[in-house]
Amino acid sequence: PACHVGLDIGGSKTRGIAWIDGEVVADFSVGSTNVQNVSPETARANMAELFGLLGSIEPTEVLAGAGGVDTDDDAAALRDLIAGFVPGAQVRVVHDTRLLLAAAGATEGIAVIAGTGSAAWGVNAAGEQARAGGWGYLLGDEGSGYWLGREAVRYSLHRMDLGEPVDSLTAGLLDYCKLTDPQGLIAHFHQGTTRRYWAAASPVIFAAAEQGHAHALGLVEQAAKDLAAMASQVARQLSITGPIVLGSGLGTNVPALQVAFKAHLAAAGLDDVDVLDQDPIFGIPLLVATRT
Ligand code: BGC
Repeated sequence: PACHVGLDIGGSKTRGIAWIDGEVVADFSVGSTNVQNVSPETARANMAELFGLLGSIEPTEVLAGAGGVDTDDDAAALRDLIAGFVPGAQVRVVHDTRLLLAAAGATEGIAVIAGTGSAAWGVNAAGEQARAGGWGYLLGDEGSGYWLGREAVRYSLHRMDLGEPVDSLTAGLLDYCKLTDPQGLIAHFHQGTTRRYWAAASPVIFAAAEQGHAHALGLVEQAAKDLAAMASQVARQLSITGPIVLGSGLGTNVPALQVAFKAHLAAAGLDDVDVLDQDPIFGIPLLVATRT
């Protein structure tokens, strides 16, 4: 029977699912195997762990969707890494935005990832493609979990500089970081924390926003605005209006972000918007079936 392994290689984790004749037979998550995020050694070790968990499964094909794959060389490096663990299999690597659109059952439209990182990408009926953002955390990733975490740190440091007292947003952040003083945030940020760590701080910002904290509300609003701008840019470039699919960690799980995202797009005349209710990895069977 045909066995496919699908990998979703995000900024925080790698999820691997094996399907035999369309049935899920294994489903595991390990740490990041994305070399934009972790060292090549860590990526290899985590990949080895994942294929170890998949055990005796012998896939005929492995399809991986990964963030940070921007050039043919990036894709080839990842393909080689994977191929070493599955000698008999055909290995394909695509950008993680492809999984998101396919997971919505769409073969044309616009995918917006709001996860550890962010990116928008789309394809129209003529097969033309366009992207917006997705340049990685040092260059962009506006509206992502990492961006929100970092902006909350910057806010706290700015208030510290002004001699203002610790407010609820900063208190939540310090608690998350197990620090007592905003001063400690600078060294903490630069010493040994990861993208994943700061992305995982985003619930602190969402909780503060829910309680009406003005700056936290402003950050959520800005994130939604930036993500919506990425989607409309791609829509314009491809001369399409949708479907626009929002997904990944924040995109699927944060109602406040979804509402603001939809409002910004509606204001731009775009209202064909879907929020993905499952992990992008479930787009892999469609990509395998359509060989896209
Ligand atoms: C990466 C993109 C990716 C996005 C969403 C960014 O950090 O640079 O390639 O699509 O995160 O995962």
